[in-house]
Amino acid sequence: MEQHELNGQLRPHLLLFPFPGQGNMNSMLNLAETLCHSGLHITFLNSDHNQQRLLRFTDAQERFSRWPTFRFQTIADGLPADHPRSVSTFFEMLNSMKATAEPLFREMIIAARQESGQWPPLSCIIADGIMPFTIDLAEELKIRAIIYRAISACCLWTFFCLPRLFAAAELPFQGDDDEVDMDVPIKSVPGMEGFLRRQDLPSFFRTKDPNDPVLQKLHAENQQMTQVSALVINTFEDLEGPILTQLRSQVPNLYTVGPLHALSSRRQHSSSSSASNIAASNSLWKEDSSCMAWLNSQLPKSVVYMSFGSLVVYGKDTLMEFWHGLVNSGKLFLWVIRPDSINVSGGEGETILAEVVDGAKERGSLVVEWAPQEEVLNHPAVGVFLTHSGWNSTMESIYAGVPMICLPCFADQQVNSRFVSEVWKVGMALDICDRGTIERVVRDVMEQKREELVESIGGLAKLARKCISEGGSSRCNLDRLIQDLRSINLV
Ligand code: UDP
Repeated sequence: MEQHELNGQLRPHLLLFPFPGQGNMNSMLNLAETLCHSGLHITFLNSDHNQQRLLRFTDAQERFSRWPTFRFQTIADGLPADHPRSVSTFFEMLNSMKATAEPLFREMIIAARQESGQWPPLSCIIADGIMPFTIDLAEELKIRAIIYRAISACCLWTFFCLPRLFAAAELPFQGDDDEVDMDVPIKSVPGMEGFLRRQDLPSFFRTKDPNDPVLQKLHAENQQMTQVSALVINTFEDLEGPILTQLRSQVPNLYTVGPLHALSSRRQHSSSSSASNIAASNSLWKEDSSCMAWLNSQLPKSVVYMSFGSLVVYGKDTLMEFWHGLVNSGKLFLWVIRPDSINVSGGEGETILAEVVDGAKERGSLVVEWAPQEEVLNHPAVGVFLTHSGWNSTMESIYAGVPMICLPCFADQQVNSRFVSEVWKVGMALDICDRGTIERVVRDVMEQKREELVESIGGLAKLARKCISEGGSSRCNLDRLIQDLRSINLV
């Protein structure tokens, strides 16, 4: 046992377990990377599917091999290799994880507790809060558990306000589906009175059934967050301070450690080279770096960057509205279209994609399947980010100082979008997705509103830098988290 002791205490061994989505895995890998610097032993548990893709498309294996106290392990997600793993199958993914991974995870914890040799016994689990079974198991097996959430504090707070929303009869929305007025103000989310509307609540709230299984799940997750020893979130105090105060009334031991992508040293220390053709990132798709050369030839702040993350899927009609909106705006665009994001049956998807790719090229613009997003956002040619308002994308855009046009689709994206446009005033929201609106808003953000938005988001970017620098709140919280992890004694 002595070899596992440091100053009379057991060396901490953490197991980090993200939900197997790109955004969730990405931000947790960034957390792992920041924790590696402090010499903690870390087992990072990826789904088999994600691990294969991560190793295929990035230098993650080599990058993390710099730390002898880091290792990857994998677990089955229970889905076939060709499963879409998208928004429409999100709950299927969650259920499959629980059914398949839970028994395997139990065995893993038991084995890891008895670890000997080079690795100390497992002392703590940091798991994604959308997989509550992980925390239940940790408690049952008497392992310290910490919850990690990859979404905004503002969204988490709306989850906690579900009972108030029902008590105040603000949920479920009254009226037939077609007639529900989504602009009605919402008053029972403390801290958001005055700007929150029905349409800004998380998409899961749009149900008529108070016993909806998804609401039940959210309620159970809330309970778990209040009972767990600590909650870690990828945000920063200067961004979400007032809402974090509300959240702390439910979860006092809250560690805000964001923006994690900026705290992690990934890009600076990467060993990848353009010759190796793999990326210094945590991407599950192959990054098309040709867009960087293309951006190099564009004027400052002249390009619209558009990407809807890893899960969103859209049909032909929506795709055509985007296309005409972008083209009619007269601006150059760099558009990420994952081939699996076009929801059209048969081979029509490929035909449409080929037409859009060619049409963009003819107009001097560019369509790629997956981009090195952080690098793109930090390129001086990018003037605006047309985004689905996923939390990672939002944090990356804020840190890069790029104003946003938000077109939220599901989960936390609606409330993130409202904060971007109405609270932080660093972008505009598209309430309707039609070509005319897209054209007008792109022009507004790139022309009339440009200076004002660039100034506001520049201010937030500065605050983000302050939070992660020496003495800043995220840096201090990270140090506090590490101290906390080091002080765990095995029972
Ligand atoms: N991303 C990327 N390249 C792309 C599109 C997205 O690297 O072409 C990354 C992006 O930087 C972010 C993640 O994928 O870190 C998407 O996470 P987010 O929370 O924004 O959305 P989700 O995919 O979870 O809906």
